[in-house]
Amino acid sequence: MQQPVSSEPPRKRRKRRRGRVVDPQAQAQVQEWLGALPRERDQLLEALHLLQDAQGYLSAPHLVALAEEFRLAPAEVYEVATFYHHFDVVKEGEPAPAPLTVRVCDSLTCSLFGAEALASSLEARLGPNVRIQRVPCVGRCARAPVAVVGKNPVEQATPEGVAAVVQSGQVTPVLPEAPTLEQYQASGGYQVYRDCLSGARSVESVLEALEASGLRGLGGAGFPTGRKWRIVRDQPGPRLLAVNIDEGEPGTFKDRYCLETQPHQFLEGVLIACWAVGIDAAYLYLRDEYAACHTLLQRELRALEAHPPGPLPKLHLRRGAGAYVCGEESALIESLEGKRGLPRQRPPYVAEVGLFGRPTLEHNLETLHWVPPLLAPDGSAFPQAGRHGRQGLRAFSLSGRVARPGVYLAPAGITLQELLDEYGGGMAPGHELYGYFPGGASGGLLPASLAQVPLDFGTLQAHGCFIGSAAVVVFSRQDRARDLALNALRFFHHESCGQCTPCRVGTSKAVALMQAPTWDRPLLEELAQVMEDASICGLGQAAPNPIRCVLKYFPEEVQS
Ligand code: SF4
Repeated sequence: MQQPVSSEPPRKRRKRRRGRVVDPQAQAQVQEWLGALPRERDQLLEALHLLQDAQGYLSAPHLVALAEEFRLAPAEVYEVATFYHHFDVVKEGEPAPAPLTVRVCDSLTCSLFGAEALASSLEARLGPNVRIQRVPCVGRCARAPVAVVGKNPVEQATPEGVAAVVQSGQVTPVLPEAPTLEQYQASGGYQVYRDCLSGARSVESVLEALEASGLRGLGGAGFPTGRKWRIVRDQPGPRLLAVNIDEGEPGTFKDRYCLETQPHQFLEGVLIACWAVGIDAAYLYLRDEYAACHTLLQRELRALEAHPPGPLPKLHLRRGAGAYVCGEESALIESLEGKRGLPRQRPPYVAEVGLFGRPTLEHNLETLHWVPPLLAPDGSAFPQAGRHGRQGLRAFSLSGRVARPGVYLAPAGITLQELLDEYGGGMAPGHELYGYFPGGASGGLLPASLAQVPLDFGTLQAHGCFIGSAAVVVFSRQDRARDLALNALRFFHHESCGQCTPCRVGTSKAVALMQAPTWDRPLLEELAQVMEDASICGLGQAAPNPIRCVLKYFPEEVQS
C-alpha cells in the first residue's frame, strides 16, 4: 500500500535521549544500595529509604538512576520522593543537608512542654553540622517534650540531654524488651490460631464471637470488625490484608505500646484474620518514626517464619515515610503501592477494590491486637468490659497536664474525669483542668465542664467532637485553647496532601485567620462549613473541629 505523502519535512533524528541522562556512577551506587530489593513499583518507598539511609539525602542523579532501575519516568519517582516529609530531596545546585538531623516534635503535647524553646535552644547550641527540624507528633507524648537524634528518640528532652546524645553519636534507637516468640508461646500464645487450623474453631464461630464482642475498628473509624470480615470474605479472591501502623494523630501512641509490649499478640491477630477471611498476603505498614519497632518486627517476623505455628500467609513489612495522610485507609493503599499517599474517591471501597485492585481487609494494629484474647476460652472479659452503657476495652493514650501520662487499657465509655482519677493519677501538680482533646488533634476539644461525657464512638458527636484513636490530651488553666487549636490547624496545613482546594487552601486560610487577636467568627464558620462539606477525605473534613470547639466552648479567648 502506498504511504501517504506528508508535506511536513522529515523529523531530524534526536541525537540524545529526552530528559536526564543516567549518570553511570550514580547508577552503580544505586544498584549497590538497593542490593536484591525487587525492582517493583510497590517497593519504591523502600528503595527511596535505602538511598536516603545510605547517603542521608536524595540527589537528582540518584533519583534519575533509581527511575532507570524501576523502569519509571524520573518525574514519577520525583513526585513520590517529594511527597513524603522524611525524604530529603536535594535539587541540583543546592547544598546537601547537614550530616545529622535532630527532629523536635512541636505537636500538641510537646508544645505544652516547651517544644519551641527546646528547638530554639538546640539551634543555638548545636553547630552547622546538625540540622534542627520542627516536626509533627513522633508518638511519644507521654514523655514530652521529645527530640529524635537521627533515629534515636530522646524523651523528656532538655537541650543538655539532646546535646549529650548528639555528642555520643548514638543515632539508632534502643530496642524495647518485648516478649519473644518463644516466650509468647510458652504463655499459651498462638493456641487460638492452632485451634482455628485444627478445626477446633470454625470460621463462623470466630465471626460470631467478634460480632458479639462489639469489637470495632480502633484506628478511628469504629466500623464493626466482625461485619468487615464478612464483607471482605464475601468478595472474590485473591484478597489481601493491609495493617495500618501509621498512627500519626497528635497525641496517639497506643499502637507503639501494643507493639512494644506484645508483638506476637498482634501477629496472631493477623494470622487469625487471614485464616478467617481467606487471605494469602498481609502488608504491615509501619510509621517511619518507629525505627525500634521496625527492627523488632523484622526480628519477630523472621522468628515466626522460622518456627511457624502453622501455615503462614505472606507477611510483608513496609515503612511509611512521614505522611500523616497515609493513615487514611485509601491513602495507605496508594502508599503501599509505591505512590504518593493521595486519598481515593469512594466508592469503590477498599473492601471491594483495594490494594493492587484486590478486595482488601484494612485494620488498625490495635483492632488485631484484641482478636486473640477475645477468642481465647477466657475471652469474655473484653465484651463484658465497658462503662456507662458502652462495651469493650480500649487503649487510651493519655498525655498533657496529667500526673501519670501513658497508655491505659480502660473500659470503653469511661469519662475523662474517671480516666484521670483512676488511671492517670489526677492532674499534674499545680495544674487545674481547663479542657481536653478527646481524640487527638482532629477530634476537637472540650471544656472541663464536659469531663463527665463517656468517651466512645458516637458519644461525643453531639458536642462537636469524636473519640477517633482515643488520644486524650489534657490541658490546664495555664494553657490557652486557642493556641492549641492553632497548633492543630498548623499540623493539618502541613499534612494536607493538597489534592483538594477546600483542605489545601482552607487549612492555610484558617491558620492565617486564627493568628489574629480577635477571630473573625462568621468567616471562620463559613470556612469550616466549606471544608467539612467539600473536602475529599477525613483530614480536611475534621480539620475545622478545633476551630468550632474554641468558638463554642472558649469564646472569651478569641473575642475582644
Ligand atoms: Fe488531601 Fe486534604 Fe483533600 Fe484529604 S481533604 S484529599 S488530605 S487535600
